[in-house]
Amino acid sequence: MVKPLVYLDNAATTQKPQYVIDKTNNYYEKMNANIHRGVHALSQEATEAFESSRIIIKNFINALGKNEIIFTRGTTESINLVASSYGRKNIKEGDEIIISTMEHHSNIVPWQMLCAEKNAKLRVIPVNDEGEIIFEEFEKLINEKTKFVSIVYASNSLGTVNPVKKIIDLAHSYNIPVMLDAAQAVNHLKIDVQQLDCDFLAFSGHKLYGPTGIGILYGKVNHLEAMPPYQGGGDMISKVTFEETTYNELPHKFEAGTPDIAGAIGLGAAIEYIEKIGLENIAYHENLLLEYATKAVSDLQGLRIIGTAKEKIGVLSFHFENVHPHDVGTFLDFEGVAIRTGHHCTQPLMRRFNVPATSRASFGMYNTIEEVDVLVNGLKKILEVFG
Ligand code: PLP
Repeated sequence: MVKPLVYLDNAATTQKPQYVIDKTNNYYEKMNANIHRGVHALSQEATEAFESSRIIIKNFINALGKNEIIFTRGTTESINLVASSYGRKNIKEGDEIIISTMEHHSNIVPWQMLCAEKNAKLRVIPVNDEGEIIFEEFEKLINEKTKFVSIVYASNSLGTVNPVKKIIDLAHSYNIPVMLDAAQAVNHLKIDVQQLDCDFLAFSGHKLYGPTGIGILYGKVNHLEAMPPYQGGGDMISKVTFEETTYNELPHKFEAGTPDIAGAIGLGAAIEYIEKIGLENIAYHENLLLEYATKAVSDLQGLRIIGTAKEKIGVLSFHFENVHPHDVGTFLDFEGVAIRTGHHCTQPLMRRFNVPATSRASFGMYNTIEEVDVLVNGLKKILEVFG
């Protein structure tokens, strides 16, 4: 018998509300045209919908202007953009870049590649047994060689919410810019980039109940103005001759080629949807689910929760003493429960906690207490079979 789906893999990607699907489809059905280029009505309508999304996003994170909002393919591309453009221009031999042990590979590898190219050094803030950044170690790492800090706002593997404001303030006291990977934070915490005073911030649409293949890079306008383009092509230019090219103004300088127009419109719709419900209501609901689930699994024999920070988003990672996470995932799948098992693109973090992988249940706004019960009952059955 097919069991009803209990979808608890929201940290990987979220399901899409009908409103988002309709808005995305509506572009293809009613206004499909390329943007910024045509004088015809359809192109103008598509351009307006696309640019309206940019304003929705600007307001959502309280950026100063819409020229600070760059559409990218997602968090990964946003970080690569900053590492390539800002990094290549500003990082020199012997410089240091600070990240943390709990970074997703997309906030490790681009900096590692940059360091290899520039002969610079990657420094890593350690985490404690609860899965929290050890702030005193950050204070020790930061010095006159430090030229950039890039930190995850909320960890996809542990759920930890990092003290990013404190990190930014300390880095700024040394005049060091800070980038935040907000892939997991943006759908749980209200983000105000002006209040945070971060220099760059990245997130993906698909973790925010929006489409895949679209994401955002926020950057302070003074940085973005000073940075060279990331890619060359259509739309990012002002004038092209074979001798020389001048570049378009922000944000178009960083948006070469035809973007994911439907995706951008869908992302705007997702934010409208979320704001109607209220991010604080979503966070409250997810926290209840997390607390309930954490308590329920705590009694299970041989189960160790990986990530017990004081401040967490709705992510519950765990490891069974005698059952491999892949077996946990496969067994739960038979029960209709979708969780993620593996290293969650955080291999160094798995090494830190001495586990090959974890099982991770992550909650979204549509999950229920009854669904958590299905998960916990599934885990109890696993213990009966394997235990
Ligand atoms: N950073 C974090 C914390 C993530 O959880 C993810 C995705 O899981 C990413 C970055 C990469 O996001 P994307 O694959 O959408 O670019």
